[in-house]
Amino acid sequence: MKIICVGRNYADHARELNNEVPTEPVIFLKPDSAILKDGKAFYLPDHLGSVHHELEIVLRICKNGKHISPKFAADYYDQIGLGIDFTARDLQTKLKNKGLPWELAKGFDGSAVLGDFVPKSQLGDMAQLQIELLVNGEKRQAGNTRDLLFSFEAIIVFVSQYFTLRQGDLIYTGTPAGVGPVQPGDILEGYLNGEKRLYFQVK
Ligand code: ZN
Repeated sequence: MKIICVGRNYADHARELNNEVPTEPVIFLKPDSAILKDGKAFYLPDHLGSVHHELEIVLRICKNGKHISPKFAADYYDQIGLGIDFTARDLQTKLKNKGLPWELAKGFDGSAVLGDFVPKSQLGDMAQLQIELLVNGEKRQAGNTRDLLFSFEAIIVFVSQYFTLRQGDLIYTGTPAGVGPVQPGDILEGYLNGEKRLYFQVK
């Protein structure tokens, strides 16, 4: 399976990092070794500099497809979860400034945290999903999918022109504003439409 991520998919987050608001989705990949799930603790890698939380909605792809048309895109994901796209921000900035790929800053072990998945049929309108991240009980990030620059369907259409999507692939759909560094001892909690769907500790 592969992990596909969308960068700068909420305009407020693109602006907070002084990035242009994109006209096409910004896509990158993480290796499957980055996955951290079942509420396991995230061990902060001490050689990477500051590591930022990015709360994101994650789509689980449920069937294989390529060159998917907009009309059918919604049929290609069946479950929604919350995840954290951990990002070694200092390293990413250094690589970006040199025009180099970001993978080292995005694909390290534990950088793709996954919470519980929910069938999308239980969640109502995909364009009205509310997400929140609390760190040590304090709200750090909040967003709503009505503010996505590229909808889930638009991402699937775009990505499938380049990569064949396979059942079990994951798509991290971008983070709203409020990203920031984590410290050992932090407790991260993610809420999707008011329900806690992600919980783990940083060590
Ligand atoms: Zn992200």
